[in-house]
Amino acid sequence: MNGFSQLLKKQHMTRNDLIELLRLTDTEQLQQLYEAAYAVKADCVGRVVYYRGLIEFSNRCIKNCCYCGIRRDNHEVERFDTEREDILAMAQWAYENRYGSLTLQSGERQDADFAAYIEQLVRDIKTMSHGELGITLCVGEQKEDTYRRWFEAGAHRYLLRIESSNPELYKQLHPQDGHHEWAVRKSCLESLHRIGYQVGTGDMIGLPGQTIEDLADDILFYRDMDIDMIGMGPYVVHHNTPVGKHVLTAGGDSPQCKSRRLTLGLNMIAVTRLFLRDVNIAATTALQALHPLGRELGLKAGANVLMPIVTLPKFRSQYLLYDNKPCVEDSPEQCRHCLEGRVASVGDTVGFEKWGDSPHFSKKK
Ligand code: SAM
Ligand code: SF4
Repeated sequence: MNGFSQLLKKQHMTRNDLIELLRLTDTEQLQQLYEAAYAVKADCVGRVVYYRGLIEFSNRCIKNCCYCGIRRDNHEVERFDTEREDILAMAQWAYENRYGSLTLQSGERQDADFAAYIEQLVRDIKTMSHGELGITLCVGEQKEDTYRRWFEAGAHRYLLRIESSNPELYKQLHPQDGHHEWAVRKSCLESLHRIGYQVGTGDMIGLPGQTIEDLADDILFYRDMDIDMIGMGPYVVHHNTPVGKHVLTAGGDSPQCKSRRLTLGLNMIAVTRLFLRDVNIAATTALQALHPLGRELGLKAGANVLMPIVTLPKFRSQYLLYDNKPCVEDSPEQCRHCLEGRVASVGDTVGFEKWGDSPHFSKKK
């Protein structure tokens, strides 16, 4: 066995090992990396892909993250809230189509009405599905008490990306207005663990100013925070954001740059799979914004979760976190059929009707 094959099989990788693997660009070595990660996925979580039907129910946001297309100060965006009945109808559709879980996602709000609204919504979805639909929430930073109310209502997973484990880089990507604090975000992850959620986090990959060392540290952060599920993906430019404008002006969105961000995104999936083994990892839509087969490539590199978009078609064009978001013109039916074919093309099957909890989480119980 040569040194590279040994590295791929190493039980206890060091930070330097992670950096060496994340840096890879040679086609043959990349192929070996992805194959090794796929073998670990087959071994530790199985060749089954679980769906989290994604309902992006509102683009109202009190935050102003400098990379995000629905940030508060983007006045080009028409704001929307999906009617409660429409969210329930979409949840019913997902249930009838045998999706095991839903993800409810929106911009961030921290007011009491929002907390009460989500609490009731979670209860209603649970009742409608006879407790069968798993619910992941992805609605930002909240007080521990609010997270607890939602957990008690029936949500059992929460996704809150740390965005970058490097507090300095985080600072550069967020306004310094006292409302975008890395330490607060980290403490939210700790609250979620205390309450008993399956905790998900992740980063954006290929951000301006981000190094390979930062990305290796993101993976170590996932380990140190005992994270159960990872939802990470390449950074994709939105033209009307401070970070997007900076990248476009600096010529950082050429086909070569996009291809590098895609490779880095796939390498992050593969190296995270090799290092953490039994966590759930999503192949996110942002991969497909950079390559038509981005999500299949993600599954081949070790991801085992997909988030088919279930958002009402009329609102999809108003939930644009970045430019060229895929599936905006599609209906939920089209997304369902298209994804099933994509999963089969990789040689995986869909875990219909199952929650597909992270084995890492299940082992802790
Ligand atoms: N507002 C909640 C929050 O920020 O946690 C949840 C929704 S937010 C839109 C979900 C994720 O979108 C963020 O965590 C961020 O990583 C991602 N995102 C935002 N802008 C992006 C961009 N330009 N490229 C890739 N991902 C982006
Ligand atoms: Fe709002 Fe989330 Fe976008 Fe930040 S990333 S502006 S919190 S929707």
